Amino acid sequence: MYTARYGASIRKMVDKAIKAKKTKYECPKCHKLKLTRRGTAMWECKSCDAEFAGACYSFRSEAGEIAARIISEYSKSS
Ligand SMILES: [Zn+2]
Repeated sequence: MYTARYGASIRKMVDKAIKAKKTKYECPKCHKLKLTRRGTAMWECKSCDAEFAGACYSFRSEAGEIAARIISEYSKSS
C-alpha cells in the first residue's frame, strides 16, 4: 500500500485521505451505502449507476458543504 515518506504528520494526512477514499458513502439518489470513488472527485453509485462530483478523496468536503449552503441560500431568496 502507498505510504508517504519523511514525516509523521504527512503520513497521518495520507492515511486519512486513503481511508476516506476507500470508504463507501450514502448515495444522494437512492440512499444506499453504495457510493464508491471512480476517479479524482468522481463518485459512482454501484446500485443505481448515478455519478456525482464530490471532493477529491471523500464525497463531501468542508469547502463543498459551505458552497452547497451558499447555493441553497441563493436559490431560496430568488
Ligand atoms: Zn444510488
